[in-house]
Amino acid sequence: MAQLEFDTVILGGGPAGLSAGIYASRGAVSTAIVDMNMFGGQPSNYLELENYPGFQVVGGYDLMEKFEEHADKFGVKKFPMQEIQSIDLNSKRIITSENEFSAKTIIIATGAQPMKLGVPGEKEFVGRGVSYCAVCDGAFYRNKVVAVVGGGNAAVEEAMYLTKFADKVYLVHRRDELRADKIVQERAFKNEKIEFVWNSIVTEIKGENLVDTVVLENVKTHEVSNLSVNGVFPYIGIVPNVENISGQLLQDAGGFFITDETMATSVEGVFAVGDVRKTPLRQVITAASDGAVGAVYAVKYIETHKEVVV
Ligand SMILES: Cc1cc2nc3c(=O)[nH]c(=O)nc-3n(C[C@H](O)[C@H](O)[C@H](O)COP(=O)(O)OP(=O)(O)OC[C@H]3O[C@@H](n4cnc5c(N)ncnc54)[C@H](O)[C@@H]3O)c2cc1C
Repeated sequence: MAQLEFDTVILGGGPAGLSAGIYASRGAVSTAIVDMNMFGGQPSNYLELENYPGFQVVGGYDLMEKFEEHADKFGVKKFPMQEIQSIDLNSKRIITSENEFSAKTIIIATGAQPMKLGVPGEKEFVGRGVSYCAVCDGAFYRNKVVAVVGGGNAAVEEAMYLTKFADKVYLVHRRDELRADKIVQERAFKNEKIEFVWNSIVTEIKGENLVDTVVLENVKTHEVSNLSVNGVFPYIGIVPNVENISGQLLQDAGGFFITDETMATSVEGVFAVGDVRKTPLRQVITAASDGAVGAVYAVKYIETHKEVVV
């Protein structure tokens, strides 16, 4: 196992982690980014962004490639596909199957992932009709019928994306109005392939080998009904990626790390940035902004905690 020492180790190579990498390495501290997957985070999986300033439309993968190239330019050391075994924030040590990293500061940028419905059949049918990524799996549903669950931007945008392939997309939402931005809602209401199923929750996902039915309950009338579908795409929220870290830092009720405005967490020298922290907006631009702030304060922390050599 290689023993590696850096001033800053950033955990997670999505928009927040890559932005932190750019700012930390420009601040002349040795910087590594460690990711359990390839770099790029969530944007690498969705098709286009229309709200990243400077780009009227940009592919998520393309944008993240630019972030990565920018981090490369400043000499950030990248460690993708690391199998994380343990993280000790107090001693600032991260052990993966190949490397042992020690650092003066750690920036946590591990992001978030889709919240599960938690209903019978969901886990069993993942990859056989249950998917959390329309961009990854949408093409399998050409000329089929699918249900998207949720009412926020992600649910509505993914429902619209799926209409490129599916003949019909049900949007199942537990309320009688959407939470998505007005402009997104307007586009969805105009889309003839989308049928809205209001005031309803999914209580079960059924099928033989593949999904063929979702069981719905109307939350007002408690009426139970079956919807015939070939696929289910839940977009009901997100949960933070806090495995191996949870319990070491202050977290809110949803498990998101609590930081101050410098991104400092409850442990000295440990910062949290992007979707993994408690924040009012989870977007690429806010993740990148958090990364910048966290890295600048990580560099300040290193400078003020330099060992005095006598
Ligand atoms: C369907 C969908 C559509 C979206 N559309 C938009 C949009 O149009 N515009 C917009 O601005 N935002 C959009 N977002 C939100 C945006 O993707 C996120 O806010 C942003 O990616 C957060 O960046 P992040 O770096 O904090 O986390 P992430 O992008 O989640 O990256 C986290 C990284 O950490 C890694 N990781 C996780 N756990 C560990 C661990 N234990 N150890 C090491 N590495 C780990 C992951 O592999 C990943 O690479 C969308 C999100 C979704 C799901």
